Amino acid sequence: MLNDRYSRHGLINWFSQDRVQNARFVVAGAGAIGNEVIKNLALLGTGHIAIHDFDRIERHNLTRSVLFREDDVGQHKAEVAARRACELDPAVRATAVPGDFWKTLSFEALGRADCVIGCVDNFEARIRLNRLCRLAGTNLIDVAIDTRRASVEVFPFATVADCACYECTLPAGVYTRIAERYSCAGLRRRGLVERLIPTTILTSSAAGALAVSSAMRVLHAPQEMQSAHRILTDTMGATTTMAPLARSEMCPGCADLMPEVRVVPTDPVIGRASLREASCGQDVCLRLSDAVISGGNCTACGHELNAGGPPRLLLARDQDDSLARCPKCGGDMTFVAGDQFTAGELEERFLGQRLPARFAVVDHDETSLVLDFAACQFPAARSSEG
Ligand SMILES: [Zn+2]
Ligand SMILES: [Zn+2]
Repeated sequence: MLNDRYSRHGLINWFSQDRVQNARFVVAGAGAIGNEVIKNLALLGTGHIAIHDFDRIERHNLTRSVLFREDDVGQHKAEVAARRACELDPAVRATAVPGDFWKTLSFEALGRADCVIGCVDNFEARIRLNRLCRLAGTNLIDVAIDTRRASVEVFPFATVADCACYECTLPAGVYTRIAERYSCAGLRRRGLVERLIPTTILTSSAAGALAVSSAMRVLHAPQEMQSAHRILTDTMGATTTMAPLARSEMCPGCADLMPEVRVVPTDPVIGRASLREASCGQDVCLRLSDAVISGGNCTACGHELNAGGPPRLLLARDQDDSLARCPKCGGDMTFVAGDQFTAGELEERFLGQRLPARFAVVDHDETSLVLDFAACQFPAARSSEG
């Protein structure tokens, strides 16, 4: 349906205002790139935009964020961005989901979305968003910038069966750099300063325009999407290249997946019928989304991690390296950490405990089942709008 507001859009032969008004987008990250992407989506009259960001606005964001004002400093980026998007076009339904998307972006919301646009600023978040989208079969556009270049990678997971994923072309050095943020058992190192990449509005606005152009292509002409591809623009040199992205047989994100992937909401308590049925047998291997610590002891006095209590499973990422000091003698603790367990092993050692992961993947015949723990683990994921 066209009205005066969208009359110019109606003159574009490839553009369908109806299609755009019925579209659902998820934007992960409402920083410099996210601002541009949300602004573009709102001005195009996009039906629904769900904005995920855990961060609050700081003063230095204001040079690169068209949706933020001086008075907004201290407020949640997601909330301010959603409010401003609705001001730009009152017909747009923009919703804010403040928090870590790993906990707030449900598979259900992903299933309803036409496309996710990743505007995050670090590799770890990109890898996580890629895994969620690959498993959900939801189109993903990843956007990145530096001081002069804008990169947009398009992954049409919804339409291309053997589509490369974000991790297929990721250099091994990236995983090394991520690992440097954690000790060998996966504990978060305290006081580690992230390397900042200085950017300006010039690369983020170019990136936002390229990303939403690609999103419009995904929406209007999904059949034209033959493979994943990367668009790279050098804003200073005024050059743009496009290259297909090939799938890797060694990819940590997608090489293990069966041709069919199905998401099954599952209660993460070990031994309960839900998890038992979903994991289909004692010998089946559960590949967890997150590394967990399953035990440990002090190298000096032998004190055990769970001395005096039942063995516990701890989400490694949530622990910091204070856990590495023995509470009894101050010596060094060593840990057993991993992300793969057989169902039988879990029942034998950790019966009645909750698996502290976002999801687990088990293979059954030609299907990879994604046991989705989020609805039980993080209640926010269930209520979040997508
Ligand atoms: Zn891959
Ligand atoms: Zn000790």
